[in-house]
Amino acid sequence: MNPLLDVQELAVSFDTHAGEVKAVNSVSFQVFPGEAVGIVGESGCGKSVTAHAIMQLITTPPGKYMNGKILFEGTDLLQRPETDMERIRGNDISMIFQDPMTALNPVLTIGMQIAESLQLHQNMNKAAAYTQAVELLRLVGIPSPEQRVKNYPHQFSGGMRQRAMIAITLACNPKLLIADEPTTALDVTIQAQILALMKDLQAKLTMSIIFISHDLGAIAGICSRVIVMYAGKIAEAGTAEDIFHSPQHPYTWGLLKSVPRMDAKQKQRLAVIEGQPPDLLCPPTGCPFHPRCPHAMHICTEVYPETTQITQLHSVKCWLQHPSAPKPEVQINGPK
Ligand code: SF4
Ligand code: MG
Repeated sequence: MNPLLDVQELAVSFDTHAGEVKAVNSVSFQVFPGEAVGIVGESGCGKSVTAHAIMQLITTPPGKYMNGKILFEGTDLLQRPETDMERIRGNDISMIFQDPMTALNPVLTIGMQIAESLQLHQNMNKAAAYTQAVELLRLVGIPSPEQRVKNYPHQFSGGMRQRAMIAITLACNPKLLIADEPTTALDVTIQAQILALMKDLQAKLTMSIIFISHDLGAIAGICSRVIVMYAGKIAEAGTAEDIFHSPQHPYTWGLLKSVPRMDAKQKQRLAVIEGQPPDLLCPPTGCPFHPRCPHAMHICTEVYPETTQITQLHSVKCWLQHPSAPKPEVQINGPK
């Protein structure tokens, strides 16, 4: 099967007054039709920049440099003119954001906004689009959709607004949906409901999803493959099974320890990863995680870790796992 999306050696950097920021560096991954892929990492790790690069929504002036390829159905989006991208956005690739209020139009009813999408992307007439808007609201779990379709965004709660955003996205019938922290602004119960909805829709509608989150727990139920990003690069990638049951990178270990476990026998304290994500203006030498890594060795401070292929789908960039790395060695940050 050919991938729907094939990102090859993507690099995005920005010129700032203080110097060049390499926000995304040498990132490669594929998304196959009908597959949900999770991208996880702390804020500033490059996951949103990757998503915005795919959508060509990076507008930050002045200096922006993009390299590599973003092949969507075999053609490179980085080479497409903006007029093509306008058609691709919405029709083929849609995005939902953390705060749906910024994406919804406050002066149009929810029904009008869904109907507009249907008219534009699915060539429906006005009356048919309005009827379908009610059905889409029902599909995303809005109660009394016949009444609610006439409401304005401010009459919806945060969770309902995110459901309405998902309905608008579905109205576009995209091949690829990019969800950038879609539940982060919601409280925990509503988060769980939206995640369950996305999982349900993904199974029903067989679209591809890139699900971006700082929370591995949110990704767990939805994605079959997971990419862990740190400091603009991929630290580890594998199937959900690999990442949750045999993670190989100390950063992934840290992320997993900070996820609450439903099966924990006793109350456990959630661990946090000590320290701060690196300043991408002057990232650390060697492995960018070394200042925070409890397992860091001397080689980690000097040489960027080569990729170790654990299985065909599971790869990691960490000297601990590399067959030719010097070991065992003194851990420079000491045991924690
Ligand atoms: Fe830690 Fe070294 Fe592995 Fe980086 S390469 S994650 S510093 S052990
Ligand atoms: Mg972000």
